Amino acid sequence: MFQKILIANRGEIALRVIRACREMGIRSVAVHSTADSDAMHVRLADESVCIGPPPSSQSYLAFPNIISACEITGADAIHPGYGFLSENASFVQIVEDHGLAFIGPTAEHIRVMGDKIAAKETMKALGVPCVPGSDGGVPDVETARIVADQIGYPVIVKATAGGGGRGMKLAPTADDLEHAFQTARSEAKAAFGNDEVYLEKYLTRPRHIEVQVFGDGKGRAVHLGERDCSLQRRHQKVMEEAPGPAITAEMRAHIGKVCADAVAGINYIGAGTIEFLYEDGEFFFIEMNTRLQVEHPVTEAVFGVDLVREQIRVAQGEPMSFVQDELEVLGHAIEVRINAEKLPNFTPSPGNVGMYHAPGGLGVRMDSALYSGYTIPPYYDSLVAKLIVRGRDRPEALSRLQRALSELVIEGIDTTLPLFDALLREPAIQTGSYDIHWLEKWLAGNLE
Ligand code: ADP
Repeated sequence: MFQKILIANRGEIALRVIRACREMGIRSVAVHSTADSDAMHVRLADESVCIGPPPSSQSYLAFPNIISACEITGADAIHPGYGFLSENASFVQIVEDHGLAFIGPTAEHIRVMGDKIAAKETMKALGVPCVPGSDGGVPDVETARIVADQIGYPVIVKATAGGGGRGMKLAPTADDLEHAFQTARSEAKAAFGNDEVYLEKYLTRPRHIEVQVFGDGKGRAVHLGERDCSLQRRHQKVMEEAPGPAITAEMRAHIGKVCADAVAGINYIGAGTIEFLYEDGEFFFIEMNTRLQVEHPVTEAVFGVDLVREQIRVAQGEPMSFVQDELEVLGHAIEVRINAEKLPNFTPSPGNVGMYHAPGGLGVRMDSALYSGYTIPPYYDSLVAKLIVRGRDRPEALSRLQRALSELVIEGIDTTLPLFDALLREPAIQTGSYDIHWLEKWLAGNLE
């Protein structure tokens, strides 16, 4: 059993993990850069270690600094949160070589799923439906043309090593293919040091539906339904909900089983998310994320489970604390991502937080590392709070969200809060009838 867990992250997700540790009677170690000395995760953890200067390459991403922090504090396991080192197979390997436990999947699973082509091949072989596209990487424009003619325009050129919405270019027609191909390639080279790209049919009005899976590493796995994350700006999720307004119980059971069987088939361990585009009643796999997602709380809210606790349990060799038959969707949950950004252009807005007041009451969860008087450093992600609400049904969740937003006060900095007040007035949000392009179109007409 773990005695002490080091959290290789910051912000709200570090708090999330510290909370699970405390409830399980496990001591927690926070690591922080010099820019984060006053951060809430440092204050709430049982111990803390400074691991370097502000740039994450020299602190939150620096393997030796993090391993040393484990050795100094006697931590026996590392929880990576999301982002930073959470999907870095080399890091996992080094953690294990030092006799420490990594709370997450194996280096091999991270490697396979981090390569989008290998991930697609693996999933296809496991019976998961995929977006039509090239079989593997596309070496040059000539080959891209042949593939695009076969699958039909529009097509999207995507980086094999892609992530965070980068290295993706749309080619609406054959005339656009060469430009899309070359730009995706150079963007991929610059962002990921790997210029391999592949082609997919571009779906014109899909929803982004992702299935939460969980495995014990011994061939047993379950699914915890889906999240609809179609509300996106520049391929970044803005608001997420569970269950998906367009997904029926039968569809959930079907796609959930396909996903659970697939991860059971590879002895997957821990939390994972299988992402699909969903159009006209069909699911098309796009990628698998081998970590806890930012939006995991909506799943926790409707299933009444603690996913971080489960991650820790399976990492120390214990079974999951539930089986598929016990997992039932109860009610509806919505999360909004509150970023320190100034509208209408979403420009980062770090700085001093004046007054901060979090909403509360029935069905309200606020995951945030903010406090009155905190100074948000300019070096990291602009996500500062996640507001999650649960209601007995979708209308109740929506009115609860509106009520909770009205209680929330964040002064001193600009945030994306006004966006949600405006979105809640939209009929498409009230009825849940939006696809992945809806938000961009709405922003163009309403804000930008
Ligand atoms: P990343 O790993 O960079 O997040 P994904 O493959 O998950 O990349 O895609 C991110 C988003 O890009 C999707 O949620 C969707 O909005 C859009 N997208 C990706 N592939 C397609 C496709 N084939 N057709 C339409 N949209 C797509």
